[in-house]
Amino acid sequence: MAGCFFVPACASDMGAIVEVSNDSGVVMKKEGYQYKQLGSKYFVRLDKDSEIVSALKEICRENNITAGAITGLGAIKSVTFGFFNPETKEYKEKTFNDYMEITSLIGNVSQKDDEVYLHLHMNASGKDYKTIGGHLVKAVVSATSEIIIDTADGNIGRKFSEEIGLNLFDF
Ligand code: FE
Repeated sequence: MAGCFFVPACASDMGAIVEVSNDSGVVMKKEGYQYKQLGSKYFVRLDKDSEIVSALKEICRENNITAGAITGLGAIKSVTFGFFNPETKEYKEKTFNDYMEITSLIGNVSQKDDEVYLHLHMNASGKDYKTIGGHLVKAVVSATSEIIIDTADGNIGRKFSEEIGLNLFDF
């Protein structure tokens, strides 16, 4: 039995989410991505031109995900990495505009000031098969990206550490 209806979206979101039921379960669809929940895990498909970090943040907000682990792969056409220098306590960012495979996307979901806080790192390889990577600031999908968010019950917070210069896990 197939059916579909609209679920109210956050005020900041661009479009509404559509919930589609089919024989294999319920799929949540929005412009740029779709996902399906199986137990504690969300299987996410990001489409061409989606920005990975903002799309994942939106999905966590939509589903009140406050703690979890993220793994993924896919194909991108641009990526901005950060490199944290512990001496200056500053990130230096660099953007690469080229077709690349995401060879590894890993990270976690926590909360800071009642907002979703993602910490993501990525490796990506280009046509020379060499890999670059770092702290993920943003990345734009060229073909597709497949990401799994493994959620956990409860909250993991974050607090800024003056000593380290980063927002550390705060238990
Ligand atoms: Fe990092």
